[in-house]
Amino acid sequence: MPPNMDDISETPAPPFNKKPYDTGGDVILRSSDGEEFHVHRTLLSLASPVFETMFTLPQPEGNGISSDNTHELASVALSEGRKALYQLLLWCDPRGVPSYDLDDIEHVLPSVAKYEMSAVLQCIRVYLVQGKEYVEKEPVRVYAIAIRHGFQDLARIAAKETLHVPLDKRQQCPALYHISGMALYHLYAYFMACRDIVQTLFIPTQDPYADILCPLSPLDVKVDQFSPIYPLHEKREAEFIHNVWLRQKRGSSSCSKCKSISELIHPQSDKVIYNAEWRLEYLRAVMSELKNIPRGRTVSNMTGIIPHLTKAVGCPECRATAGGQIFLFNKIFAHWVDKKIDEVCTF
Ligand SMILES: [Zn+2]
Repeated sequence: MPPNMDDISETPAPPFNKKPYDTGGDVILRSSDGEEFHVHRTLLSLASPVFETMFTLPQPEGNGISSDNTHELASVALSEGRKALYQLLLWCDPRGVPSYDLDDIEHVLPSVAKYEMSAVLQCIRVYLVQGKEYVEKEPVRVYAIAIRHGFQDLARIAAKETLHVPLDKRQQCPALYHISGMALYHLYAYFMACRDIVQTLFIPTQDPYADILCPLSPLDVKVDQFSPIYPLHEKREAEFIHNVWLRQKRGSSSCSKCKSISELIHPQSDKVIYNAEWRLEYLRAVMSELKNIPRGRTVSNMTGIIPHLTKAVGCPECRATAGGQIFLFNKIFAHWVDKKIDEVCTF
């Protein structure tokens, strides 16, 4: 477990409570609320050019601490409170184990930046980028932290994760106080750009129940114009979508027995599209979900499939194949959605 000062009864907290003769340090740092930490100048100087400079400056007279009548250490008063100072020292002393809790990280980062501890700053950045735990749990908060401290890669990753939080479900967090209105605007603009580009995978029609997939998506080439540069599995995936979900001849594919077949004029090609209503309604449901959460995971984890399957069961042919068709559609389309999102420039 990471150390937390609230759980430590010793004062000062270890390892910064050792006396000088225990190799506990050669200088005392005093927090704004009076806690004293015995530390090594060399370690802090290696970690921070600000501390390095600070230790070369003459200390005010009478500021020495007489610990045992034989050792007198210089004492430096800092503006950090005991909690922040403790966490800061844990990051730059090999005797300590720094806390990876997001509250502690957020608390210590301003001091890390203030003392120009560039290596510590990068350690924390890499941890947040690679760990993903906090990015997935609290993407808006991590985005704000990333923007505040200039972690561009983390900001991009966190922004993408915020797509999983619908705009009307987003909550404020204190981290947002520390970023500009423009940074927050970028986050909302990014959501809307992703939402809009994902909707280009569909073509809305006049029929409110009949929005259909755009046949040119996602690679903007027709299936029969596939170049060998496209992997074979992508060609097969596109063929599946076209043959099963965008049939252009009645009875040309897996089902000719559905009672409810919609005949649509494709708004771009003027060709007639035939498809079972349960399929078109399913596409519409997917489109609607993607407006709230424009990510591939929305499709691969699609909820509310049962009503569509129930309708499909009414057809003797679709009964056997609908589940597999939806499963495969979700798998392919989730990939298409994420490819579309990758086209959106972030910051
Ligand atoms: Zn059918």
